Amino acid sequence: MRFDVMTVFPKLFGSPLEFGLVGQAVKAGDIGFKAWDLRSAAKDAHKSVDDKPFGGGDGMVMLPEILAETLDKIKKDSGEIKKSKVIYLSPQGALLTQKTAQELALIDQLILICGRYGGIDERFIEKYVDEEISIGDYIVTGGELPALVMMDAVSRFIPGTLGNEKSALEETFKDGLLEEPLYTKPRNFEGMEVPEVLTSGHHQKITEWKQNQKIVRTLEKRPDLFKTSNLSRTEILKAQKELNLTKRVAVGLVHYPVYNKSGDIVATNVTNLDIHDIARACRTFGIDSFYIITPMEEQLAFVGRVLEHWQSGRGTQYNHLRKDALVNTKTAVSLEAALEDWGVGDSKVVTTSARDVTGPTHINPDDLRKIALKMPLFLMFGTGWGLENAVVRKSDYLMDPIRGRAADGFNHLSVRSAV
Ligand code: SAM
Repeated sequence: MRFDVMTVFPKLFGSPLEFGLVGQAVKAGDIGFKAWDLRSAAKDAHKSVDDKPFGGGDGMVMLPEILAETLDKIKKDSGEIKKSKVIYLSPQGALLTQKTAQELALIDQLILICGRYGGIDERFIEKYVDEEISIGDYIVTGGELPALVMMDAVSRFIPGTLGNEKSALEETFKDGLLEEPLYTKPRNFEGMEVPEVLTSGHHQKITEWKQNQKIVRTLEKRPDLFKTSNLSRTEILKAQKELNLTKRVAVGLVHYPVYNKSGDIVATNVTNLDIHDIARACRTFGIDSFYIITPMEEQLAFVGRVLEHWQSGRGTQYNHLRKDALVNTKTAVSLEAALEDWGVGDSKVVTTSARDVTGPTHINPDDLRKIALKMPLFLMFGTGWGLENAVVRKSDYLMDPIRGRAADGFNHLSVRSAV
């Protein structure tokens, strides 16, 4: 692998490539590196490589001819290299990931273009650049540090760079998981012990512990990574269970006290559709219990009849799946009664409301998911025109309203959809 870097600061690459494992690989010749000074292609006495942008605006733009001439020099110097790629380090590029680094390590030559100032002329990108890569959603002053970050990440996959070839493949991001926590001597550091299993000498248990920790860490810190992992739901649940992190979540659908259209506090009717649809959603997503909350006796009797029909009446023969869907559906006369019936201590009550009420801590769904790993949550949904403010204020968290995408701002989900 050979890196050719186009830059106005070739000296900036000196020391980062002299030290550590990458430094050793460069010295050993496993990695080739050459910095190409863009200024040597400059045409004027000031050695200019940039000019003002057409159409005005802040920041100078790097001249396409200087870039093209330097690239041409690199290609002439490269001889018979088979696979080569021109990469422009740019905040507008695709995010650099471990997977990209691994793939790029298979290429014989990477030509890296380091922008400065406002960036580089678009026509050069169109004609010569194969890929634009970003190191993150922030702007740094030039492409040199991004190039170094990328070279380091890629080099770790080049045979010879790491002492143990396997280590690059065993780290964080492997299989879409973060690495387990690491411990070394002393066994007791400021009162904190190393987890017992790691000093047990029991290899199978250690392997299992590590795998569970990887799953739980990822759930806690980067749940988004699961999208790229091949883990089954069973494996995730197993890890949570073994580490006592089984999620406990209940849902409450509140029919009193809620507002009506005129802002009066009222009790709403329970609807058959809500019972079935929310019960099915709750069962599907592993919710402990679904409480239909109303103090109205007739309404409680109505729900009782529906549940009886499907749980022990004629409905059981008609559709056994419906029976299964409703096993965790219950009634309660108030939120307090529902919480007491649920019987899970130290739970937090989360309100979902389309209104912004002061009092509870506002929380977004991602942060709420992290909290759900540590403590049980009771998710409360209002009916009618929303939960009474006093109830919302009493809850621990207020989840950010779900926002749609309608161009005219229409945002009026049924409670079933919101659940
Ligand atoms: N005006 C540009 C824009 O808004 O997209 C940003 C220019 S930046 C100040 C100058 C140079 O730094 C860029 O041409 C690019 O090479 C490099 N750079 C800045 N942030 C970067 C990032 N997150 N990833 C990769 N390169 C970056």
